[in-house]
Amino acid sequence: MYKIAKMTFKPSVAGLEGVQDKVDEILGMLHKNGQILDWIIEDHAPSYVATVSTTDDDSLDEKYFNQYIRGAIADFEIETEIVCDDALASDCCHCADHSYYIFAIYPDLSSSPVWCGDCGNEIPLTRIPYLFGEEEHYSILNFQQMYKAVDTLWMDSLSDRFTKRQLVNHKSELNKRGMEIRAELERRLGKPVYYLLANPIGGWYELEKNNKHLEVCPKCGGELEKIDHACANKVCKKCRFAFVDPEE
Ligand SMILES: [Zn+2]
Ligand SMILES: [Zn+2]
Repeated sequence: MYKIAKMTFKPSVAGLEGVQDKVDEILGMLHKNGQILDWIIEDHAPSYVATVSTTDDDSLDEKYFNQYIRGAIADFEIETEIVCDDALASDCCHCADHSYYIFAIYPDLSSSPVWCGDCGNEIPLTRIPYLFGEEEHYSILNFQQMYKAVDTLWMDSLSDRFTKRQLVNHKSELNKRGMEIRAELERRLGKPVYYLLANPIGGWYELEKNNKHLEVCPKCGGELEKIDHACANKVCKKCRFAFVDPEE
């Protein structure tokens, strides 16, 4: 379950300048490190109190801090308190092991895009290894933002060929980047990771055209295997794509 937490930042040195900016920077680092989703800061100068949403009871623990956070918090005494559950969030995965994963971006969710194949819940990024030699989750979060931006353009305004192609076509620049991240996730996690390909794209716009039954994998033409998962109902094991077939 997602949690609402309070973090109190008290400068440990007198006369520290630009305290509120430093606090905001630290919170930005915690976000890039997958520890918090969003935040607001109360001014109680010289202390600042941030209300944050975080992914689990232990997600704010120091053990998850990276070198940037450890460096930036040196001038502060920080107190952290979990206030309550986030009423609108669903629970995250608590499985000890995962037989496979799905990497799926949902435009209205800003939580982790890595989903457990067994329980169907998302896995907080604090429990996902860093990718591409990074010391934070920049690649995943940056891709999530980009994907959501393209999807918003398709859903809310343009409904044009460019944005649709980016989402649907497995060869688009957007999906190629998604598949690079998927491959790196699979290398680091050591289990199959499927990338949710929005083909068919679904939705109410041009209903029949956008909700066609998916017979075979659009990349290799091979047969698809059924799965029982909240994010997808078919996969191509060879290409590592997951799909939502509307006729299933
Ligand atoms: Zn799970
Ligand atoms: Zn395939």
